[in-house]
Amino acid sequence: RHFDGSTWSEAEVRKAAVDHCMLTWSGSAPLETMPIIERAEGVYLYDTAGKKYLDWTSEAVCVNLGHTVPEGVKKAMIDQLETMPFVYGGIGFAPVRAKLASLLAELAPGDLNGFLFPSSGGEANDCAIRLARLYTGKTKIFNQYRSYHGGTVGPLSATGDFRRKFGGEHATGFVKMFNPEPHFFRWGDTDEVACSQALACLEEQIVAEGPSTIAAIMLESVPGSAGVLIPAVGYMEGVRALCNKYDILMIADEVMTGFGRCGELFAFQHFDGVIPDIFTSAKGLTGSWQPLSLVGMRQPIKDFFWSNPTGWGSTFQAHPVALACGYASLKHFVETDVLGHINRSIQPVMISELNRLVDKYACVRQARALGAFGCLDLQDPKTGERPMQVGDPMPPPIANFKRAFNDEGLIGFVRPPQLHCAPPLVITEAELRDGF
Ligand code: PLP
Repeated sequence: RHFDGSTWSEAEVRKAAVDHCMLTWSGSAPLETMPIIERAEGVYLYDTAGKKYLDWTSEAVCVNLGHTVPEGVKKAMIDQLETMPFVYGGIGFAPVRAKLASLLAELAPGDLNGFLFPSSGGEANDCAIRLARLYTGKTKIFNQYRSYHGGTVGPLSATGDFRRKFGGEHATGFVKMFNPEPHFFRWGDTDEVACSQALACLEEQIVAEGPSTIAAIMLESVPGSAGVLIPAVGYMEGVRALCNKYDILMIADEVMTGFGRCGELFAFQHFDGVIPDIFTSAKGLTGSWQPLSLVGMRQPIKDFFWSNPTGWGSTFQAHPVALACGYASLKHFVETDVLGHINRSIQPVMISELNRLVDKYACVRQARALGAFGCLDLQDPKTGERPMQVGDPMPPPIANFKRAFNDEGLIGFVRPPQLHCAPPLVITEAELRDGF
């Protein structure tokens, strides 16, 4: 069957999937009913029956530049495949690695000048955790409760969203801190009061844990899958100040928010003077057309590891074809002014349309958006009481959203009590309005 060159029917694909593929997250759609996506173009996906779906969340908030690979990016990848498809980053050096690192250094603010290139977001975070521990000689890492940092052992232990911690904690040394909008505040709201309370709480915790034991505070600049929790003005600035005061590194996880999602190249650029010591990113770096992530670090950390080469490595680090894809995609991102498009055309529509849904539907409690990253908080439409807590079961009207999305030709992401809105950054205003 595998060698006779014949095509597979949809039934054969489904049977092989059920017989031999494993589910990833237990919350994923069952393989029996998951749409089999055969083709993708622009901001649309097509299943085997030819049904067209608007990609409402850029898959896992990652296909930032849409599903059509620009000619220049395709050519860069093919050229790399033809000239030198692989060199192990530990023994040789692909020229494109230096080019991408230097472009990133040019675009990133401040002295964020050193770059490593793992393959996934979780791997980048694992690497950032190790580097922070090696650099500081300390072990504890602080993370927010409402966060997700990846599915491998270290990042999953860093993650605060208990629903994703199957099997419990796997690694030690991770301390949880409140987001600036803990559950006893209004859902998703983050105002000055919540912000100053969370900072006061954090300082107490730092003192109680002992600053001499804390390597880093690692947080998403805008927690993404936890609900696009845009921190109030002053929060990230306050975290930076506490890191400075207690000699703790600040690590920004920009895996989901990096490369334009929030209307800046990196979301931390929204916060006055905040430059993390280390940051990670992935997804949007290559538009997800190749697996590639990065760990960026400030000059003193880079210098330290140049003279103490005890850092990190993996076989597929700095994979040349992925780097060629990343370099060409990033140039395309800059040359086509994707940031301008988000700020001019996407964010205003996103905000007005989200607010329209708040006004229109009793099941929508509130909404927020930054750049091309939007979210609705859902609530029980009958009682209209306080929104559900994270982890509560979905009441039927909300469970029906996902199916209704697919029926209506939309592929979306419902993580109760939130419904994300994060289409590819290249979506046109008309396509965006159509989706809403
Ligand atoms: N960090 C954040 C903020 C994420 O949203 C994700 C994935 O969604 C990760 C890390 C993990 O990235 P990956 O799935 O590429 O390992």
